Amino acid sequence: MNPFKSKLPDVGTTIFSVMSKLAKETGAINLSQGFPNFPVDPLLVDILKKNAEQDVHQYMPMPGSVQLLLQISKLIKNNYQRAIDAEKELLVTAGATQALFTAILAVINTGDEVIILDPAYDCYEPAVILAGGIPVHVQLGDDFLPDWDKIEDAFSSKTKMIITNNPHNPSGRLWSQKDVDSLESLLLKNENVLLLSDEVYEFITFENKHISIHTREKLLNRTIITSSFGKTFHITGWKMGYLVAPEELMIEIKKVHQFNVFSVNSVAQSCLTEYIQKTDVSVLGEFYQKKRDLFQSLMHESRFRLLPCEGTYFQTVDYSAISQENDVSFCKELATKHGVAAIPISVFNKNKLDLKIIRFCFAKDEETLTSATERLCKI
Ligand code: GLN
Repeated sequence: MNPFKSKLPDVGTTIFSVMSKLAKETGAINLSQGFPNFPVDPLLVDILKKNAEQDVHQYMPMPGSVQLLLQISKLIKNNYQRAIDAEKELLVTAGATQALFTAILAVINTGDEVIILDPAYDCYEPAVILAGGIPVHVQLGDDFLPDWDKIEDAFSSKTKMIITNNPHNPSGRLWSQKDVDSLESLLLKNENVLLLSDEVYEFITFENKHISIHTREKLLNRTIITSSFGKTFHITGWKMGYLVAPEELMIEIKKVHQFNVFSVNSVAQSCLTEYIQKTDVSVLGEFYQKKRDLFQSLMHESRFRLLPCEGTYFQTVDYSAISQENDVSFCKELATKHGVAAIPISVFNKNKLDLKIIRFCFAKDEETLTSATERLCKI
């Protein structure tokens, strides 16, 4: 008999690994897993080369290098006019994934309920379960926007946290002022509930700008916000991010962080300290908007129906005019028969709700987008 009892019996390999592997095996153009395929900024490469020769190869302080913490606090101040205490309220993490995991592990106790809005990025639920918490899934509307009455109904006396993700992966939707107001009112009515706000695509928005929880003063004493340099600087493989939390929560989060990773990659921290000061995040929205517009115009002739894309680098499409197959099978067929890999949305729904919608990543060079869309337009 197997002496092990799985802690995550319902969890398989993440869809991102599955689809990227399938793309490799089939030679399909990979528009599935979200990562840029164009070169990183040459300035960052120069900084990296220069740093390699410096004394930056040993452990950094546990919460992050003092200089990097300072630069991140400036980034937050410049973008959201929020002054944070870099020493007490900020943590450098190995990507947003580690930030989310560490935060959840630190504050969720056995039996605590955590509200997750589906379709949800796939790393939230396993962390809640490993912490002994109970995930409570609430389905977003078919337009991927929140139904606040439904969310309020899911709150109970055991609710400890709500996890939000705006701009939203996988849908590419962005919350309006009204949505953020509704979240704020809901939390003001439920004083003991924490907010974990995943804002990794904070700088990738198009016609409308992202409303960050950093700007919601009334919530800041119980909000944990995470972001990712992987998205902001096109360096997903560096696995660098950060987390902002009020001191009281941060004390607990650091207790876990110090035994989870202790401190994050020193060379990357040193490079990012310099790079943040020399780069302008405000151009990111326009940069990706051009890619979105190109992708959308190239897809115009296809039988896929393009859904609203207001932020992130993901375009969702409805394929129901092409096939009635479920989205997982459709994506497998798309890769194997038509040579383009995409992500099915149903895997992010606890109830596996399948709306015949899949996600393409357009963080790609023009040649890739052109070749992929040529294939997609033939279907
Ligand atoms: N966040 C990326 C996506 O949504 C994938 C990250 C990962 O592979 N873990 O595609």
